[in-house]
Amino acid sequence: MEKRTVQTTDKTFAGITLKKGKEQSVRRYHPWVFSGAIGSVRGNPREGDTVEVFASDDTYLATGHWSPGSIAVRIFSFARCNPDIAFFRKKLSDAFSYRVNTGIAGNDDSNAWRLVHGEGDGLPGLIVDIYGSVAVLQAHTAGFWHIREMIAGLLPEVTGGLVKSVYDKSEGTLPFMAKLNPANGYIAGESGESAAVITENGFKFRVDWEKGQKTGFFIDQRDSRSLLRQYSKGRNVLNMFGYTGGFSVYAMSNAALVHTVDSSAAATAMADENVRLNFGDDPRHKSFSTDAFSFLAGMKSDYDLLVLDPPAFAKHQTALNQALQGYRRLNAIAIQKIKPGGILFTFSCSQVVSRDDFRRSVFVAAANTGRNVRILHQTGQPADHPVNIYHPESEYLKGLVLYIE
Ligand code: SAH
Repeated sequence: MEKRTVQTTDKTFAGITLKKGKEQSVRRYHPWVFSGAIGSVRGNPREGDTVEVFASDDTYLATGHWSPGSIAVRIFSFARCNPDIAFFRKKLSDAFSYRVNTGIAGNDDSNAWRLVHGEGDGLPGLIVDIYGSVAVLQAHTAGFWHIREMIAGLLPEVTGGLVKSVYDKSEGTLPFMAKLNPANGYIAGESGESAAVITENGFKFRVDWEKGQKTGFFIDQRDSRSLLRQYSKGRNVLNMFGYTGGFSVYAMSNAALVHTVDSSAAATAMADENVRLNFGDDPRHKSFSTDAFSFLAGMKSDYDLLVLDPPAFAKHQTALNQALQGYRRLNAIAIQKIKPGGILFTFSCSQVVSRDDFRRSVFVAAANTGRNVRILHQTGQPADHPVNIYHPESEYLKGLVLYIE
């Protein structure tokens, strides 16, 4: 965390003055300024411009990117600065050092990892995932989209040559209202492949960043996939919302059978391919491209390890109640149907659903079935998806591992 010392900078930026009494959250290093906290705006900023944030008494507080909307400023510095190439070189180097120091970068067993996790790395609006020597960049704000080429140019340097090319995948992540017309494609290094085989904890996965969801792979479930392997020995495993078979491949190392369910046929085809990459044509694995809810409704109680890793049920606060109901329904049917002595890995990746909310939903689901349920583990995000302690919202991934009698 930079100290809040006021330095002088030659550049002038547009200014946001907060309403009296609305500066507390910024003083506590929360990186968002909501539009309702703004008293006045100076300098007519355009979406993506750098703005400085001031308290109502004109004390400097922070610098960030302007985006007209509910979150009006996303802060990247609490010290006065000029956000030039040297500034971002330092930020990206810090992000890389953190991954080196936590044993994530440069690990031969796993060459897919997240280099920049938005607010978790003090760069709200920017995501960078590494697949071998390819970095996949996603700008979630106009601010980072405008400087994407500068960021891409810095990545080989700050990673000591590990990154050789950068693919920009911001088409689906930029705010629609910003009217930026992004097109996905390579923006640094040699334009190369659209997919590659990566290694995760020694397992191989084909990752297609061009056509796949998010940046191509759900890197954030790496630790939970690893945990699953401890419990899958000899079990009948059902991997619901399996995508490209992440949990399935780990389970195949010791399970009796593994079934992967996903509504996307492209995803289950990739799951089959990933199982084949690691285990050849193994009859223990089968995949089903169908709706999870109808699969669960029709299934018999044949499974003694279930994974429920659905997409975010709520993207916004307004959908919270509906999302909680969704988690209750899904978990109730799984808890009801799992074999006695079964283990359930259940997750929520909705940012607006808190850890307590999620746990309560699963509690209600369990109570409705009347079965005896113990909590084995409460899981979260791996270290390359760090939670910024000043920004509780960055804790989006919550998991419970349950033993059901
Ligand atoms: N567990 C995966 C990631 C899951 S992402 C991993 O470790 O890689 C969520 C998945 O749910 C997506 O692949 C999406 O296609 C699938 N999905 C969304 N709605 C669904 C539904 N109603 N039924 C089945 N799958 C669904």
